[in-house]
Amino acid sequence: MSEVELTIDGRRVSGRSGQTILEAANENSIHIPTLCHHPRLPISGACRVCVVEIEGAPRLEASCATPIRKGMIVRTDSERVRRARRMMVELLLTRHKVHCLTCESNGNCDLQDLAYQMEIDMDSLSFEIEEPDEPIDSSSPAIIRDPSKCILCGRCVAACQDERVEHILGFVERGSDVRVASGMSQPLFETDCTYCGECLQVCPTGALIEKQSRFMGRWWELERVETTCPYCGVGCALELYVKDGRIVKVRGAEGGVENMGSLCVKGRFGYDWVNSPDRLTTPLIKREGKFEPATWDEALDQVVSKFQELKKRYGSSALAGLASAKCTNEDNYVFQKFVRVCFGNNNVDHCARLCHAPTVAGLSKAFGSGAMTNSIRELLGADVIFVTGSNTTENHPVIAMYIKQVIAEKGARLIVADPRKIDLVDHATVWLRQRGGTDVALLNGLMNVIIGEGLHDEEFIWSRCENFEEFKRTVERYTPDLVEEITGVSADKIREAAILFGGAEKASIVFSMGITQHITGTDNVLSTANLAMLTGNVGRESTGVNPLRGQNNVQGACDLGALPNVYSGYQPVDDEATRIKFEEAWGVPLSGEPGITVVEMTNAAYNGDLKGLYVMGENPLMSDPDLNHVREALDKLEFLVVQDIFLSETAQMADVVLPAASFAEKEGTFTNTARRIQMVRKAIEPLGSCLPDWEIVCELAGRMGYNMSYGSASDVMEEIAALTPIYGGVHHERLEGDGLQWPCPSQDHPGTAFLHKDRFTRGRGRFHAVEYVPPAEYPDEEYPLLLTTGRLLQHFHTGTMTRRSEVLDTLIPECPVEINPEDARRLGVGDGDEVRVKSRRGEITAGAKVTERSPVGSVFIPFHFSEAAANLLTNAALDPSSKIPELKVCAVRLEKK
Ligand code: SF4
Ligand code: SF4
Repeated sequence: MSEVELTIDGRRVSGRSGQTILEAANENSIHIPTLCHHPRLPISGACRVCVVEIEGAPRLEASCATPIRKGMIVRTDSERVRRARRMMVELLLTRHKVHCLTCESNGNCDLQDLAYQMEIDMDSLSFEIEEPDEPIDSSSPAIIRDPSKCILCGRCVAACQDERVEHILGFVERGSDVRVASGMSQPLFETDCTYCGECLQVCPTGALIEKQSRFMGRWWELERVETTCPYCGVGCALELYVKDGRIVKVRGAEGGVENMGSLCVKGRFGYDWVNSPDRLTTPLIKREGKFEPATWDEALDQVVSKFQELKKRYGSSALAGLASAKCTNEDNYVFQKFVRVCFGNNNVDHCARLCHAPTVAGLSKAFGSGAMTNSIRELLGADVIFVTGSNTTENHPVIAMYIKQVIAEKGARLIVADPRKIDLVDHATVWLRQRGGTDVALLNGLMNVIIGEGLHDEEFIWSRCENFEEFKRTVERYTPDLVEEITGVSADKIREAAILFGGAEKASIVFSMGITQHITGTDNVLSTANLAMLTGNVGRESTGVNPLRGQNNVQGACDLGALPNVYSGYQPVDDEATRIKFEEAWGVPLSGEPGITVVEMTNAAYNGDLKGLYVMGENPLMSDPDLNHVREALDKLEFLVVQDIFLSETAQMADVVLPAASFAEKEGTFTNTARRIQMVRKAIEPLGSCLPDWEIVCELAGRMGYNMSYGSASDVMEEIAALTPIYGGVHHERLEGDGLQWPCPSQDHPGTAFLHKDRFTRGRGRFHAVEYVPPAEYPDEEYPLLLTTGRLLQHFHTGTMTRRSEVLDTLIPECPVEINPEDARRLGVGDGDEVRVKSRRGEITAGAKVTERSPVGSVFIPFHFSEAAANLLTNAALDPSSKIPELKVCAVRLEKK
């Protein structure tokens, strides 16, 4: 962009070609007021408050919509400009219910500020006041819309339509009757609004506000703390607004590198659980089957003496620990160190085993690194995006927003492969509705066509990859016709998708647990890697294999060694040199034998081999497959310690419960799905006697005879950096602003936006010949329906937090069992009917939701609801390579209750 010189208010300033007068003025610290402009939204020019005088121009121009020109002379504050602006603001005020006294936006309202700056007296407006009489819409639990405070700036409409690519808010009527309406002029609650809250974030007045924040504090009374969202792996930057030790409001941080101010319903409205009366605030010891409050000394001493006794009696292998994808990097590092040093084994794992273990296993084999190859916002540069096994709009809503934006604004094409008719299908060019558990066949079919059509990237394959011939021989057998038979997707659709993907200049693959939670999870991931290498779509911007991590810090918990086979940074425990490095750093001998995984821990407890388990922030009694078996296994333990923020289903079975601080009560870092390490900041003091997880673990280590004391979470990160090459340059003070994406090996390294540029981490990318293998359990006569499990937009993981959020639990208070209308008709089930769902392992009762989203012969049940725990039904059959259970496919039968 070339430099453009102009004069604003008598000052010679420079801007860049393509900039508007408003942008150039802002950059040169010249303030022009505006009401409709928002830097994230398209230019509207509606409010005309930003008008300026341009020498030679007959009329005043809106500075937000007028590009700068060389030699232009602009006056932003002339008498004529001031008069025009004042008239606009007075006109707005004549139709505005000026109720500043109790308006939630008092102190944070652009209209109020302008009226004040212009010294406007409401008693002497130049125009007659016409009090608007449109009713307030408070139908939804999340947002109040007060049309009498609306100035028709259009920001909310642009945010809803252009930014989120939803079409809930819009203008209706014309001329002086024009107004903003939701849906077909229905109350908001009757529309399909997802309550992302983008509209209220950009509203310059009090026309849109958070319902639960009403009367909780004036803007000037609130302390603002910037932190990272505790829910999904996108890692949105949040602003927590705090008063008297409570979070009273959340806004998206406009400078947040991953979200640019946007949030989803969970990030924006799901925070009240932090101050829930259900929070654990004191240690608990179970005596005669009942929990009793205890002091920290009593509880910690009991934990230590019991672990020491079990270790002495049964040996080190009788103890294990579960770390947590919800806790910080520092918590997880300290936890895995505790297990390795104090238990003396590598029996540490966490729920990544249940979501993305195949990603780590598969991508490590193919590329040498098990993480998302590219950055989130690179999706905005892709020509084709292939989303497979990811219900992105519900599980990673802000990433789905980018996908919809690049389609709507830049004409990118979307291929969706999913048995369910997920929301993204409405935006797709091609939808491949495969049978559950047939992903390898489908991907092989796509690659068969790509090779047959000569759309593969020979140059990339021969210069960067290996084992192509063996892979090709396998793929050649997966003709579109054969794949149609296996997957149910027509050969024509397979060809269409393959040609679209193979013909793209920049194609990006996005996947999630629909790919990984299978006994063939690792094979599925290897197939996505094959597809990227085959078409040369890796190692470049806006391409790559992009696994979306489910929980806020599942990437970080893996990175920091909360896995049984690796120390932090994926350094193998069975590599002697690595082991010696950690022994020297930690000053103790370490085991070189990999430990056991999540499901293996359950089985070991069931078989009597595991006697003591320490669980930090996990809830296996909801998240693991075959819950009846898990319950029996936990029951057989001699000692169970749970450290958590709530008395979860698992905590209820514990012998000792240790109360932990929530994300809002401690410092540390989370690593998002795109390898970005970001700060988590303390906003309120820990409730009761809660402590940050890492501090509790250090207390236990000290009592077990190993001194593990750090002055702060930042000190923990210093140790991480010293021992972990991919985090070598990561220090808390470097994480202000955008954070850092690993690999970041040294203090002066800027971090890495995309991996495998010029060279794969393992040298050459390796193709794998992968054959289709059917799921472990398919429907049969006795159990004729295929069950798939997953998440809902409004809830998170095992529901411990979101079920205690008033807005979220009001939006979805009960577990829905999604069933296709055809199956529902055949079984005599109506929408809302109570149904019993049974598998070979258990049964649940819940309400039916009759919907075309589920394919015929299939039911979908989310796993957030303890009263209808989907994992009572699921199958614990494991992927032999990554040991993930097959949570996405099992056989059930359903009957009306
Ligand atoms: S509701 Fe707010 S953002 Fe929407 S048009 Fe009215 S004032 Fe503007
Ligand atoms: S849950 Fe995910 S998408 Fe939603 S606000 Fe949090 S990080 Fe962002």
